[in-house]
Amino acid sequence: MESRIQRVRDAFASGRSRPLRFRLQQLEALRRMVQEREKDILQAIGADLCKSEFNAYSQEVITILGELDLVLENLPEWVTATPAKKNLLTMLDEAYVQPEPLGVVLIIGAWNYPFVLTIQPLIGAIAAGNAVIIKPSELSEKTAQLLAKLLPQYLDQELYAVINGGIPETTELLKQRFDHILYTGNTAVGKIVMEAAAKHLTPVTLELGGKSPCYVDTDCDLDVACRRITWGKYMNCGQTCIAPDYVLCEPSLQHQIVQKIKETVKEFYGENIKESPDYERIINLRHFKRILNLLEGQKIAFGGETDEATRYVAPTILTDVDPEARVMQEEIFGPILPIVPVKDADEAIKFINSREKPLAFYIFSHNDKVLAEWELTMGSTVLIPSLISGPVC
Ligand code: NAD
Repeated sequence: MESRIQRVRDAFASGRSRPLRFRLQQLEALRRMVQEREKDILQAIGADLCKSEFNAYSQEVITILGELDLVLENLPEWVTATPAKKNLLTMLDEAYVQPEPLGVVLIIGAWNYPFVLTIQPLIGAIAAGNAVIIKPSELSEKTAQLLAKLLPQYLDQELYAVINGGIPETTELLKQRFDHILYTGNTAVGKIVMEAAAKHLTPVTLELGGKSPCYVDTDCDLDVACRRITWGKYMNCGQTCIAPDYVLCEPSLQHQIVQKIKETVKEFYGENIKESPDYERIINLRHFKRILNLLEGQKIAFGGETDEATRYVAPTILTDVDPEARVMQEEIFGPILPIVPVKDADEAIKFINSREKPLAFYIFSHNDKVLAEWELTMGSTVLIPSLISGPVC
């Protein structure tokens, strides 16, 4: 492994990843790969997550093509040096800011969107003129194997290397010195990555998870809210980092929310969800059992059916959930939606603020005062204005 990384480092030292023309060529080659091998890519994602070609294309491939267009169009401007304001110390100098590549970047990908979570950071790393070691998630095995086969066919083989493997290989990789680490995955491993990086003072970008709440106000369009929650929660079988994790609402709304989500699930996935081409499966048995454990002792208002042989977990809603229940302690990352009753918006805000910072949160309300209060009190959390009314459906 050390010699492989050394080869990548030597390739970076040769300087050939730096010229703008080379970066654009590599990014164009990546686009050719996505276009020419689209069928293989869709099949690999489909095999890993039991995903239809349409969903694999719309959730992963389209994002990559869009990212490539964006970068190819803007890179000439992004790499251009910009003049810096002079001060007393630099008044006689030519002062400018020149973006520079960092060196060898390690990308550690996650399995839930196995193509996009590996290729998107790769696009950024190539665009910035770096050499890259790519470590796809071992849980999405078919996509990992395909990336190891395809990338060397389209990209410079010495500058960009795929190393496949599980925890032992990643642990070994993390002992090496990199110039930046881009990690996507859970928080526990995020800490391991950061600790390993700290030994070399390597900067890290951690794309982690969390429990992303929804607050459904009594003054809102409940049809729209439930439709959007259904879409965000059950796509990819709940295995999405910013999926709505749980719902906070006044007790009187619980029953209506369950009914409306139930109807929307039927509209989205049909009478027989198991047969729907749009409904995925849990990635592996370990995660299937983990999700099953979260259901223990809970009041199931909808769904709850499971099938170990196919790792099927039906879209499920739990009502009157105790904030101390296990399902409320960790990111669910599966198709289970707990509803936790709260007295009002104030109590919901206190509830969220007393816990770990969520990755996203969704507020459904027509009441400007309620919205303003959320914005004010949740200011320390990443508030994405477009998400206030929920994801587009
Ligand atoms: P995972 O199991 O695929 O692990 C991620 C990577 O870490 C893999 O490449 C794996 O080999 C490596 N890894 C696992 N255990 C390790 C260890 N002990 N030491 C070193 N490396 C190790 O994926 P996951 O963690 O189950 O991913 C799901 C999590 O990722 C969820 O929490 C989700 O919210 C989060 N996520 C975040 C984003 C984002 O953009 N913020 C996107 C997708 C997923």
